[in-house]
Amino acid sequence: MRIRTQCRDCGLPFNERLLAGGELVCPKCGATRAVAAEGWSERQVNACPICGCSHLYRQRDFNRGLGCLLVAVGAVLVPWTYGLSLILLSLVDLWLYRRLRDAVVCYRCDTVYRDARPATGQDDFDLLKHDVLKYGKSWQEVEEIEARRGLSSDG
Ligand SMILES: [Zn+2]
Ligand SMILES: [Zn+2]
Repeated sequence: MRIRTQCRDCGLPFNERLLAGGELVCPKCGATRAVAAEGWSERQVNACPICGCSHLYRQRDFNRGLGCLLVAVGAVLVPWTYGLSLILLSLVDLWLYRRLRDAVVCYRCDTVYRDARPATGQDDFDLLKHDVLKYGKSWQEVEEIEARRGLSSDG
């Protein structure tokens, strides 16, 4: 399983390949984190193998910078191509975006599981859930807010 994560100790973001029951070692400071052997497979993550959190969300594994660069290149070439370059590179950008699959991300430690497919219940990012898991707001609070939301959208 290919992942993108961040070191808890020195904050360094890095890419790594996870092995069940192995260890995750920071390339900069050498801090290690145990990798759970259960709760995940090469294609699916039910509980984060690094922090044990069972709340995950889906995210498009897409390089935003690359997409912007393509459109910028298309814009620069406009005077020579009568605008065709912009259309063409926008299409390439769209094609790249479509081709890329969803990845799964842990709410608590922000680790991206690049080879995982989202399971049912692993939906788009929810800021409220994120706050609960990260800053310790209570779940009851969330349920109350969601209930209120539901009421207001009906009315
Ligand atoms: Zn580190
Ligand atoms: Zn996690």
